[in-house]
Amino acid sequence: MGGGAQFDVAVIGGGLVGGAIAFGLRALGPRLLLLDEGDQAFRAARGNFGLVWVQGKGAGLPRYGAWTQRSRREWPRFAAEVFDASGLDVALSQRGGIHLCLDPRELEARAAALAALVDQPGFERYDYEVLDRNALAKQLPGLGIDVAGGTWCSLDGHCNPLRLLHGLHLALQRAGCVLRPQHPVARITPRADRFDVATPAGTFTAERVVVAAGLGSVKLAPMVGLAAPLRPQKGQVIALERMRPFLPLPLSTLRQTDDGTVLIGDSQEEGGLDETVALPVLAAMAARAVRAFPALRAAHVNRTWAALRVMSPDGFPIYAQSAAHPGAFLAACHSGVTLAAVHAEVLAPAIAAGSLPPSLAPFSPRRFDVPQAA
Ligand SMILES: Cc1cc2nc3c(=O)[nH]c(=O)nc-3n(C[C@H](O)[C@H](O)[C@H](O)COP(=O)(O)OP(=O)(O)OC[C@H]3O[C@@H](n4cnc5c(N)ncnc54)[C@H](O)[C@@H]3O)c2cc1C
Repeated sequence: MGGGAQFDVAVIGGGLVGGAIAFGLRALGPRLLLLDEGDQAFRAARGNFGLVWVQGKGAGLPRYGAWTQRSRREWPRFAAEVFDASGLDVALSQRGGIHLCLDPRELEARAAALAALVDQPGFERYDYEVLDRNALAKQLPGLGIDVAGGTWCSLDGHCNPLRLLHGLHLALQRAGCVLRPQHPVARITPRADRFDVATPAGTFTAERVVVAAGLGSVKLAPMVGLAAPLRPQKGQVIALERMRPFLPLPLSTLRQTDDGTVLIGDSQEEGGLDETVALPVLAAMAARAVRAFPALRAAHVNRTWAALRVMSPDGFPIYAQSAAHPGAFLAACHSGVTLAAVHAEVLAPAIAAGSLPPSLAPFSPRRFDVPQAA
């Protein structure tokens, strides 16, 4: 890279996906540009639950299970790099996690689903345990009396996702990269030797572009001959007051942060571009949390919010390089916290080298049979 363009790489979207890819490219310094729409945009990176999660992932696409496990393995190194580069500790904890089942039928269905998942041909197997209430209560003091049980996997964990996002941005600034918030990209125009990236504040030129704008990628990807068939899926989260540490491990729907805040999350709702919080869903989430840990009944709710996931038709990530314009790449997924480590440590170097590895071929949007330029 080098040439006559202003930047070697322009990453469009400063959420967790664009931020992690840019972090992996930060050695480019002033030759790397990160453009972000800003506060008015839909931003999953600012409203997520913070799990670095493995169990349950990969049903229907074993390669996704392996990709997730790889990210889990890369996470400690990635977190250390973010700390070195930004001074921010993202509070990574990977001591295992639990998926709780309130009634016996839920537990039975969960056990069957995990058994089918790891039995898939080609699946990179991992160990998990199906625990009844008594076994679970040994790990989770204060567990409700009528909880049926849960599944435990040593690979799961969590982190502070807002500190992660902040740390990525800070690291980019410190590396001398060019960050432009409040710069919504309106148009990408492929030229023979570069891409013109137009924003209301001016046009930038780059040899390569990475479209990583979350839900904004739906409009941008076709401009470089790619398809991003993504839809919003709402998730609501409840933040309780800070409490004395009582939850040693994260659950898939309940976790205690490193500063003691208890988070209850997160719903899965199909309703378009709607970020409103709705009491009936919050009430159902709170009721389940109180059944799981009756002591939570006395806790105060500090705030609630909703955010939109970036969801592909089959729920798996989308990674692609444009055949018509090979300097253009697309990255989108709904588990951008979990996958941040592979986005920085594996995907970014591949983009820098100029092509995606064959191992990422299963994530091409061609699997949806959507029209692309070439
Ligand atoms: C409620 C909820 C809970 C979640 N929990 C977890 C979890 O526990 N673990 C996990 O791994 N993942 C979780 N996720 C998913 C995770 O947050 C997302 O995968 C991740 O944030 C997606 O990152 P992104 O960068 O693709 O999109 P976003 O975070 O949405 O960022 C997109 C960015 O692109 C910018 N943008 C958009 N359009 C343009 C444009 N035209 N020009 C320039 N910039 C543009 C926006 O400003 C925005 O900053 C959760 C998501 C939600 C909503």
